[in-house]
Amino acid sequence: MLDLPTTSATYSGLLIQGRWRRAADGSTFAVRNPADGAVVSEVADATDGDVADAIDAAALALPGWRSTPAIERGRVLRRAADLLRGRCSDIADVMTREQGKPLAEGAGELEYAAGFLEWFSGEAERIYGQIVPSPRAGNRILVLRQGVGVTAAITPWNFPAAMLTRKLGPALAAGCTVVCKPASATPLTAMMICAAIEDAGAPPGVVNLITSRRPQVVAQAFLSDDRVRKLSFTGSTEIGRELIRASAGSVKRLSLELGGHAPFVVFDDADLDLAVTELMACKFRNAGQACISVNRVYVQRRVGDELAARLAQAVAELRVGNGLDAGTDVGPLINSAAVDKVAAQVDDALKGGAHLQVGGRRLSELGPNFYAPTLVTGVTPQMLVSREETFGPMLAMTTFEDEDDVLARSNDTEYGLAAYIHTRDYARIFRMSERLDFGIVGVNDGRPSSPSAPFGGMKQSGFGREGGAFGIDEYLDVKYVSIGGVE
Ligand code: NAP
Repeated sequence: MLDLPTTSATYSGLLIQGRWRRAADGSTFAVRNPADGAVVSEVADATDGDVADAIDAAALALPGWRSTPAIERGRVLRRAADLLRGRCSDIADVMTREQGKPLAEGAGELEYAAGFLEWFSGEAERIYGQIVPSPRAGNRILVLRQGVGVTAAITPWNFPAAMLTRKLGPALAAGCTVVCKPASATPLTAMMICAAIEDAGAPPGVVNLITSRRPQVVAQAFLSDDRVRKLSFTGSTEIGRELIRASAGSVKRLSLELGGHAPFVVFDDADLDLAVTELMACKFRNAGQACISVNRVYVQRRVGDELAARLAQAVAELRVGNGLDAGTDVGPLINSAAVDKVAAQVDDALKGGAHLQVGGRRLSELGPNFYAPTLVTGVTPQMLVSREETFGPMLAMTTFEDEDDVLARSNDTEYGLAAYIHTRDYARIFRMSERLDFGIVGVNDGRPSSPSAPFGGMKQSGFGREGGAFGIDEYLDVKYVSIGGVE
């Protein structure tokens, strides 16, 4: 059993009103290491009564937190970012054990996660309003931007630290209080993040954590409580659709960061060395389990064979293994269903006439959830990989003729999160960036994420933005005050 690092907290799962405690009915669930199936820890499995307690705590803490000067809210966030950095190796170790990613990637994610707390610590002081010229004499209009109140956050397992701080940073900066529910596969990283925020001086009840493997019960408790003014969700499009339906009854404000199906377009004037480097990082980071991972590579015909050969070599050189082992580039997938999904897409592509260049098999000798980094060429629009999110280490490639052709194929998806282009032609950079129906466009850049940029999708990849100056708007209500009699 994992011995979590000691802080002021005793880790049992639920953080409610500044106290770590067990579920009301005492139930727990196991968190398992995806590399070998070993139990990492047992954590509390919250009931709807526990969720109600957490919402009570967040509502109780709200008046004090929202009236805390913005500069002080910012200081708490900055201290929390520093604590996360100071605890980086401990948290990365826990993250690798529960999620599987290589230790160095876990440390990189922690830095990214701390960046959201730090960025929004400054933003707390910049929640400005406006004074608007009124069309009526003797009248003034003031516009205020105020925190929405109690908020709820549901996060996925693929980036267990950053997906949480991307919500906590702006919420706390805006003077909101939060109840969060991390994925049941990765609750331990979330516990350590919340402990750091508590240790940084957040008053009891400002941040509350519910661990549970009953996500529908938790979501229902959030959506049916009128005190919860906003739900921010990151996860699959399928669950996002469910939440839209379920939130209609209480007209809950939502932000939805959902699935993706990113095209990666390489034109024949591109710097191929750079394209290979960025493509490999974009595809194989976190074993391909990122919402902005490349799903489809389109290469212009003249350089197709050369790019395929370079990629085949780079993919074959990747070292797969336990994320705790030095030198591991690609860890396990999160569970066996994720492996089955990749295997089904590879099999479907090969049956449909695609060519296997490298990989294409389960690595059962390493453990239950390993799949070989794979490159498949000659994929067609009918294949599963061209339509469904892969979320695994499979690179699927095909050629294209010209800009209009590749633009139409890139946009031919219900998703609209991230797209990538590689070219040296500046006019084409503008044409393509403006016509791609995606919330994020990486130009000669396969790693576009940053705490200072407004991350988010179009179409069925969701709505709302996280990060950057736009990120805090999701946690603010706009109110105007019309004042008469000003003669
Ligand atoms: P998921 O199955 O949708 O789960 C996400 C979260 O929702 C988890 O906390 C999960 O809890 C919870 N959940 C499950 N069923 C629910 C329900 N019926 N009602 C309310 N909550 C429910 O997604 P995932 O497999 O964890 O994550 C992968 C997906 O997230 C991919 O599609 C990926 O593209 C997307 N993603 C998007 C972004 C973005 O910024 N756009 C970022 C990262 C990931 P349990 O863990 O207990 O099931």
